[in-house]
Amino acid sequence: MPSVPNQGVALVDKVLVVVLPAELHPSVHVEVLQSHQNGFLSISTARRKLNLADSGRASSSGEEGDRLATSNASIAVIAFFRETTRIVAQLSQLNRSEFVHRALDEYRSVGRTAFLDQYGFAESRDYFVRHDGNLYDSKPLVAAAFGFAHPDLGPLKSADFSGGIDGAVRTLRRLGFEVVTRAQLQPPALGDEFPSRTAIQEAYGGQHIQGINRFPGDGVVNAFSDEEGPYADEPPSVSTEFSYRGEGLEGHQKLASPGNALLEQARLSSSAVRYWYRPEGGSFRFWCWVAVLGRAWVLGNDTKGVERQEIEWWFTSVPSPEPSSWGQEIRVRQREAVVPNDAETEPAALASASYVDLCNRVGPALPAVRRERPGGRDFQRSTTARRAVVLRSAGRCESPFCTGMPSQLSRSGEPILEVDHIKDLALGGDDHPGNMIALCPNCHAVKTRGKEATRLRKALAKTALALHEQFLRLSS
Ligand SMILES: [Zn+2]
Repeated sequence: MPSVPNQGVALVDKVLVVVLPAELHPSVHVEVLQSHQNGFLSISTARRKLNLADSGRASSSGEEGDRLATSNASIAVIAFFRETTRIVAQLSQLNRSEFVHRALDEYRSVGRTAFLDQYGFAESRDYFVRHDGNLYDSKPLVAAAFGFAHPDLGPLKSADFSGGIDGAVRTLRRLGFEVVTRAQLQPPALGDEFPSRTAIQEAYGGQHIQGINRFPGDGVVNAFSDEEGPYADEPPSVSTEFSYRGEGLEGHQKLASPGNALLEQARLSSSAVRYWYRPEGGSFRFWCWVAVLGRAWVLGNDTKGVERQEIEWWFTSVPSPEPSSWGQEIRVRQREAVVPNDAETEPAALASASYVDLCNRVGPALPAVRRERPGGRDFQRSTTARRAVVLRSAGRCESPFCTGMPSQLSRSGEPILEVDHIKDLALGGDDHPGNMIALCPNCHAVKTRGKEATRLRKALAKTALALHEQFLRLSS
C-alpha cells in the first residue's frame, strides 16, 4: 500500500499528490491526477490506488475534473488539474543527464530541422542549451530525453509541459546543463533597429504585447514607446527629462502590474532601462539608456476615453547602463525623489510636482511639434504643460473677465475647465504654460466665437504670461 505523505508534494505510484493541512485550504478537496499518458484518474480509481479512506463525498467541478471534498480530513490531498503540476509530475521523472546526452547525440546526427520535425516542435524562441560551443533548442531536447528515460511513456509532446524557467529550463539546469537566451548571448546594442515589436520578440523572445518587459534571461528592463500610440508619448529627448506613461490601457493603472513593477524596481535599484522608441511610420530603435528619476499619479484618459488615474514615470537619458557614469545630479534626484505613498487602494491622482517642476519638464517655450497625418495636421501636445496650467488655475477660470464658473462639477468631480492655447498651435503658438490658460466653457466660447475675441485674446495672453511668471516666482 503506497503511503500518502502528511504534507508536501509526492509522486505515489505515478500519481501526483499534493498534501496540504486542512486549515490551509478553505474547502478541503481530494483531487488526484495520474501522470502523463493515461490522463486523469477518476476519483474512485485514485482512491483505490492510494488506498484512501472513503470519507468524503464526490463533487464535480467542471473543467478541473472530479473533486472529492472530505468532511473530516485533517489533510487535503490535492492534485492540481493544471499545467504547472503536470510539469512537476513529468519532468521530475527525468533525473539523469545521460538521457539528455542521448537526445543531444540524436539532435547532432539528424540535424536541427529533422530533430524538431521528428518530435513535433517549433524552433525555440527563448531558451537554448549551450553544449560544446553549439546551441540546441531546449524544450525538444527535454521531450526527447524523457522518451529515452521512459520508453514506455514515450517522448513528451510540446503541450505536455512548459519550456520556460519553471519547466524545461529548470530540468536542464538541475541536470547540469547550461541554458542561455539570445539576450544573454548578444544583448541589444544602442541604436539597434527592428521593423516591429514582433521582430524584437523574434530576436530576443519573451512577450511582445507589453510596453514594459524584460527579455528572457536578461535582467535589464525595456520600455517601449510608440509615437502612434496607444499613448501619444512625448518624443524622447536626449538632453532633458521626459515622461513615460505607465502600463495599463483601460481602467486605473496599478503600480503592481508587471511592467510598472519592473520600472519601480529599476527606480529603487538605480538600474538603467533600455528605452525603445518608434517615430511615426518608422522602426523601433534602442534609442537611449534611461534612468528612472521618479513617478507621480496623474489624471488621464484610458483608451476608451474614460478618466482614470495613471502613472507618469520620469526618465532622463544616461550615457551608459553603469550608474557610476551618471552625473551626480541624477543619483541625487533618484535618492531624493518624492513619490506618493501608494496605499493598497488606488491612490488619488495628485499633482505632486510643483509648477516650476512641471514647467522645467516642459522645457523652453517652443512651437508645438507638427505631425502630418492622413486626415490632416495634428500637433503633439504636452500633457505636462496641461497639468501645469490646471495646477496654476486651482480649479478656477483664469480669465479676469469671467462672469462665473459653472456651479456644478464634472462627472469625475472636477471643476469644468478647458485648457486653451491662447495663440493657436496652428499659427505657431507655443505648447507651453505661458501660452496656455484654463477657461470655463463660457469664457472659452467668448474667446473663440465672441465679437471681441481678438481683444480678449490679447488680454488673456498678458494674463497667462503674468500668471506664469508669478507662479514661477512663487514656487521657486
Ligand atoms: Zn470664465
